[in-house]
Amino acid sequence: MAFWRCPLMKMFRVLAYLLLLLLSLNINTAGIGAASAISYEQPLYGFAWSTREIPVTVERSPEYARNAVLSAMQTWNLAQTWFSDTYGVSSRPYRLVEVDQIGESYVNIYFNQTQTRDDWGYTSYHYWYDSSGVFYKITVSISLDLTLWSGRSLSVLELQALATHELGHALGLAHTTFSEMDLMNHFSPNHEVTVPSTLNLYALALLSMVTSRSNMPKTPVTLPEPIPYHTPPESAIPEMLSPAIPLVISLGIVVTLINRRKTRSPK
Ligand SMILES: [Zn+2]
Repeated sequence: MAFWRCPLMKMFRVLAYLLLLLLSLNINTAGIGAASAISYEQPLYGFAWSTREIPVTVERSPEYARNAVLSAMQTWNLAQTWFSDTYGVSSRPYRLVEVDQIGESYVNIYFNQTQTRDDWGYTSYHYWYDSSGVFYKITVSISLDLTLWSGRSLSVLELQALATHELGHALGLAHTTFSEMDLMNHFSPNHEVTVPSTLNLYALALLSMVTSRSNMPKTPVTLPEPIPYHTPPESAIPEMLSPAIPLVISLGIVVTLINRRKTRSPK
């Protein structure tokens, strides 16, 4: 009884509480500091394609470079659907489609045999909108270097990473700055990043819903609370072709079997 009434013990208890309070305050401020260290922001250029299909012309040769670009286009096409399905974000996914001839709006991709500027790739864009703010014409030119100043040729993977990055610009995404491992970072092609991050894809989903200049998303775009920032591995994005092939083959077998039965029956 006398133990708790002792004034010295009372002072100790007050000091202990104060110490605990100080410690918890310190932990809190440290926590806030860590959370604000990285802010995942995706700046936009200010245009959005109004058509679902985006026509792309790709220089014919060399074939390995052309194939790297086609893979990059396929990645964007599949990743948008993967993102909407995975996180339940409504969007009207774009399809980058290869065409032979340049129309009014286009993305034109050509190869540079030797490096002509510091960047490995370069994208320039122009866009037009009418009096009600509807984007009616967008033209994009992308140049990709095949060989660097040093004489070293880009690998197929480096070329694919570069093409995926530049196509992100063609879709209206500007550079991100928080990590070199984000596809839309200026240096991402050096790291062979070939898949867009959830942030890149979320920004594109918002752009896909735009109908005129007046309802462009606020730039920079940040991820809403339930969607984590990450870059999925290429294997996470389902191929559209592979499950279709066995289906087509088995359908073909069934059809030929039915036909054989039909032709035999009259005999
Ligand atoms: Zn860039």
